[in-house]
Amino acid sequence: MENQMEKIVSLAKRRGFIFPGSEIYGGLAGTWDLGPLGAELAHNIKELWWNHFVRNHEEMYGLASSILMPERVWEASGHLEGFADPLVECKKCKKRFRQDELSGNSVSTWKPSSQVKCPECGGELGEPKQFNLMFKFGDAYLRPEIAQGMFVNFKNVLDTMRPALPFGIAQIGKAFRNEIAPRDFLFRVREFDLMEFEYFVKESQWEENFEKWRKEMWAWVEKVGIDKNKTHELEVPKEDRAHYSKRTIDFEFEYPFGKKELYGLAYRGDYDLTRHMEHSGVDTRYADSVSGEKFIPHVIEPTFGLGRTMLAVLLSAYSEDELGGEKRILLKLNPKIAPVTAAVFPLVKNKPDLVAKAREIYTALKKEIPNTAFDDNGNIGKRYRRQDEIGTPWCVTIDYQTLEDDTVTIRARDTGKQERHKISKLDEYFKEMLK
Ligand code: ATP
Repeated sequence: MENQMEKIVSLAKRRGFIFPGSEIYGGLAGTWDLGPLGAELAHNIKELWWNHFVRNHEEMYGLASSILMPERVWEASGHLEGFADPLVECKKCKKRFRQDELSGNSVSTWKPSSQVKCPECGGELGEPKQFNLMFKFGDAYLRPEIAQGMFVNFKNVLDTMRPALPFGIAQIGKAFRNEIAPRDFLFRVREFDLMEFEYFVKESQWEENFEKWRKEMWAWVEKVGIDKNKTHELEVPKEDRAHYSKRTIDFEFEYPFGKKELYGLAYRGDYDLTRHMEHSGVDTRYADSVSGEKFIPHVIEPTFGLGRTMLAVLLSAYSEDELGGEKRILLKLNPKIAPVTAAVFPLVKNKPDLVAKAREIYTALKKEIPNTAFDDNGNIGKRYRRQDEIGTPWCVTIDYQTLEDDTVTIRARDTGKQERHKISKLDEYFKEMLK
């Protein structure tokens, strides 16, 4: 299975999805750069998420808050004190490990470090210390989670939008964690994007809203193209939950390196808003418009890592099959997130009239379907193979018949089947297919 990881990493590099961060200087651990196709994929996933969770819900409000936040925020949130992983260092080779990863996945099943030897050199491990994961930046911190942006702006959103409970505040943005041991490609990095919302409810309604978003998270898993059969819920036991959480479900995915967290769904109670009210001295209570009663709402928080989504999507979409007697690799991406929706090509590249016609069709189609690409590199077989490998759902070929009757062939990625369609109906066809 490790093999599958190598295949994904290699495809991602070869086809311009994901490169090691600062590669020409030997890379920087825990960073990856998105290439031309990775940037498109990430953009499409973020847009799909925003439409699914924000624009589709009247009571959801968007936000884009700062990455830098002062120490007082992290004091109030509890991160300064509690956002730490247990670090153990090998006395011999000095390599650092997360103690809970040395001894299984749970802090509750941890064994004293003396029983566990260094997995790198077999040396003796030192005593565990709590290692805070926040990056200090001058007199501020790079946020290790994006949720606090929603909490510190809670009053601003109340005052400007006048929402009624239940309602949510959502954002997509970068978070930074000084992970002890970055590893497994996009899975554990030091800089990553989160897509997340805080859903504010009356305390008596937390369970029904927890349930509502649990279902919506499953709908998202399916929509974005993550293999449902490899996704599982884990009820997180109390001792493993974050300091603020009264109930947490992890959505775990079967990665080739093990079943690990993909997403989280946490009930944060009224912890954060209460703490901010105490620490800032600002009244962050919600006033019920009917009864006039003032209280601090409770919070349900679904959180989605973008990098882990991309990894799970790539692993779910990756396939190898045989088409017309030839082996091929294909990414069965949801057309809505594929970096290229349609690739337009002339049958051969040395016939100026075919190339001119293909260019004309490409230019017109790109106005309607922005992720249209033009491809005339190599022979047609090579182009199909390349487009299959990057997950392009449709290839449009301009041939000699096109010059006579204004029709083109559309080839479907998964089946390799080709159909003739009128040029004038191309954009309608794709719009229909993307619905
Ligand atoms: P883990 O136990 O794997 O360290 P966590 O429980 O600390 O994760 P959360 O605080 O719940 O993670 O983070 C929310 C989401 O952010 C996770 O569900 C995951 O998708 C993503 N995430 C967290 N840490 C990382 C990381 N180092 N690299 C990439 N994505 C991450």
